[in-house]
Amino acid sequence: CGIVGYIGNREAYPIIVKGLQRLEYRGYDSAGVALYDEESKQVQVSKTKGKVADLEKKAAQEISRKGKLGIGHTRWATHGVPNDVNSHPHVSNSGELIIIHNGIIENYDALRKELENRGYTFKSDTDTEVLVNLIEDVKKSENLKLGKAVQVALNQAIGAYAIAVFDETRPNELVVARLGSPLAIGVGEDEYFVASDASPFIEYTNNAIYLEDGEMAIIKREKGVKVRKIKSDSEVEPYVQELQL
Ligand code: GLU
Repeated sequence: CGIVGYIGNREAYPIIVKGLQRLEYRGYDSAGVALYDEESKQVQVSKTKGKVADLEKKAAQEISRKGKLGIGHTRWATHGVPNDVNSHPHVSNSGELIIIHNGIIENYDALRKELENRGYTFKSDTDTEVLVNLIEDVKKSENLKLGKAVQVALNQAIGAYAIAVFDETRPNELVVARLGSPLAIGVGEDEYFVASDASPFIEYTNNAIYLEDGEMAIIKREKGVKVRKIKSDSEVEPYVQELQL
């Protein structure tokens, strides 16, 4: 169970794969990656049951591995057996929103039934795929920006999470949030990293923001990091900590 994300001007794939390897100690049963390829303007997803090394083999065969925005995940299954389909990232019904999640959404069953009544369909057995479609439903029905939609959706979710999500149609931002699972943001120059701990990005920057429980962040390529509380609209001044190398 680990999370890695990157938004900036470098190729994300090698950073993500290396980062996932650094998080392997946390234990996991599956691994996956999603990249936004600026040339094709599309998201490519590759995921598999097994090790990060298995993911690398699969990704080399099925995706270009290009893109300067991406997220990667190692899964420790809680809802749905370890298999390729249940692996993260998960994509919303429209294909636009892509999420990775560590933790558990306890009320996923009720949320899933509501979404099914509204026409949503599910490929996996995970609580995570429910969450990404809840975000999509809120976003589309209330015509919200991604950050706000994530906030509204998380206020309907009960459980524990560290998430990272982005929108294929607005690939200049990455939204993250945490409650009960760790999440750190590495702050570089016009580039940002997110990870379950600082080890995936320590070689690129020693400036980090550790999100507190109940906080979320909207990370924009050029405009930087905005932190706010999930439960209220109050903004939090991000505390950038210098890591000791
Ligand atoms: N509950 C999610 C799942 O089963 C995330 C598990 C994890 O923390 O990796 O897919």
